[in-house]
Amino acid sequence: MTKNRQTKETPVAALAGNPNVGKSTIFNALTGMRQHTGNWPGKTVSLAQGVCMYKGEEIRLVDLPGTYALVSKSQEETLAAGFISGGEADCVIAVCDATSLERSLILALQVMELTDRVIVCVNLMDEAQKQGIEINLAALSFELGVPVVAASASREEGMGELLEQLRRILDGFEAPRPRRCGVVPDSIRESHLGAEALYGASGRASDEIAAQFVRRAEEIAKRVVRETRQDAKTRTLRVDRLLTGKVTGPLSLAGLLGLVFWLTIQGANVPSQLLQRGFDAMEAILWAVADSFHAPPWLSGALIAGVYQTTAKVVSVMLPPVLIFFPLFTLLEDAGYLPRVAFLMDGCFEKCGSCGKQALTMCMGFGCNAAGVSGCRIIDSERERLIGMLTNALVPCNGRFPTLLTLGALFFGASDAWLAALVLTGCVLLGVGMTMLSSLLLGKTVLKGAPSHFTLELPPFRRPQIGKVIVRSLRDRSLFVLGRAVAVAAPAGLLLWLLGNVSFDGMPVLVKLSRVLDPVGIWLGMNGAILLAFLLSFPANELLLPVCVMILSAGGSLAQAQTMDVSSQLVQAGWTWKTALCVMVFTLFHWPCSTTVLTIRKESGSAKWAFLGMLLPTAIGVLLCRVLQLTL
Ligand code: GDP
Repeated sequence: MTKNRQTKETPVAALAGNPNVGKSTIFNALTGMRQHTGNWPGKTVSLAQGVCMYKGEEIRLVDLPGTYALVSKSQEETLAAGFISGGEADCVIAVCDATSLERSLILALQVMELTDRVIVCVNLMDEAQKQGIEINLAALSFELGVPVVAASASREEGMGELLEQLRRILDGFEAPRPRRCGVVPDSIRESHLGAEALYGASGRASDEIAAQFVRRAEEIAKRVVRETRQDAKTRTLRVDRLLTGKVTGPLSLAGLLGLVFWLTIQGANVPSQLLQRGFDAMEAILWAVADSFHAPPWLSGALIAGVYQTTAKVVSVMLPPVLIFFPLFTLLEDAGYLPRVAFLMDGCFEKCGSCGKQALTMCMGFGCNAAGVSGCRIIDSERERLIGMLTNALVPCNGRFPTLLTLGALFFGASDAWLAALVLTGCVLLGVGMTMLSSLLLGKTVLKGAPSHFTLELPPFRRPQIGKVIVRSLRDRSLFVLGRAVAVAAPAGLLLWLLGNVSFDGMPVLVKLSRVLDPVGIWLGMNGAILLAFLLSFPANELLLPVCVMILSAGGSLAQAQTMDVSSQLVQAGWTWKTALCVMVFTLFHWPCSTTVLTIRKESGSAKWAFLGMLLPTAIGVLLCRVLQLTL
């Protein structure tokens, strides 16, 4: 009996498995929690915990980090192995992938070395069925000596049976008797030192131990798996060869990005205009209402010209592209494309003297840089982890994409949506290129050392669940980003309206400040107002455009600005396509948002690295803008 059972605390069940086998999906289905799931490895770095109820009793569920084995000493493996062997879990659910059972059994067998109380959950049964893979579950259970439950977690199938099985083991109605490889002696397992026994052996001994598990998994898979169709496998291989080939890989990456941007820009044009018209009509009504109540001008000004107008402008320019772009991006992520991108870049990152896993954390950065920086925990070497953290903000995150999309559409998309798509694809590729170049530079200067190696496994392609993807991306990304922009834009609108209406030295404070910054701004191919907007949007990058618009409204004639759409307003303020290009480059490369800076500070444990994390992108941005300013 383990300690939890003796003290009658809530029993603990842990989910173990390779990355990407659906652990988070099972965890969410059982606990009703919303942990982010995505079709790529290395996402779960720390332990997620939740509680599920079954027949009136609680079970605490722990989602262990995804690992391929428990025999090496990487951070995730040590954590998972320690948790399982230390007796902290009353039962371990070893999650396997039905479409590649042999590979996932290797880990399940290692889990069985460490504890008796194991359930093997064969997930992704729906996918296996589609690929013509049949698994004899009874035979599998016999070979392993532990209960086996089949599941399709994303359809919530098999969850009831899993809970029932879990309860039976926790309540002592069933005692699994695992058929082990016999690597860990019984006495050591019982004294909770199994984890050290597994990875304690070094060099050839540990290779031999690992080989034993691989052989046994192969043997079992041969007996229980039957593949009725080879064509699905060949098709995946063919697609993979195309997407990760030396020439075809980068070409298809650029092509896919271009297509996504083109669809976004083409699709966003008309709804943007319609929204703007709707908001204008609404504004006229608001002024009329304010008039009829004889509201004092400062009040109606602050609320309508300040809060309402800024918010309306932000929503009308940002909402349509964001609504189209994020679901498209999530579809690619869900289908399993991101690990292919990582695979494609793995070699380049190694050539740059850093770690291939950085390609994965970089992909996380496209979602959120703060998340990408924490994701760097999956990188084992301290030196490479720092390189990953310092360079993460060089790719555009959710907060900066809308600015890029909007400016791309306004200044390059009017004549030709393909041109805008090309510029935006260029921006993304520039971000990736700079990440590599900076990694190389950092590795040669402040963070010298030899690169380490790792194996990156390509997860199978999956048909994305389109409905769920749309709902999830709208909720977690589009509305989240927009909500944040509006939440900050509304009060910022008020503050900026005040700053725009309080005078200092004969001109509004806002205008005064932007004049002060003008020399530097112009030197960078932009102007003082834009630079001020960059400074003011340090709390959240989403703010850049709204703040820009507010500053322009305060500077120009207010009455005129009210009736203008964003693009005419920017043109009126002297923006040309060159200005837009410089702003886009500076959006790509400048200090990261405050959350990311704080995350670098926390994860690296030093303000020095956080400072370097701000300095590096800013220096690149300044340099590139200067070059553009001098050459265009
Ligand atoms: P984890 O890395 O093990 O936590 O895996 P996730 O829970 O993030 O799942 C990886 C991907 O597989 C996600 O895109 C899920 O939607 C998908 N997925 C999970 N379970 C199933 C399933 O039973 N069937 C199918 N078709 N997809 C699944």
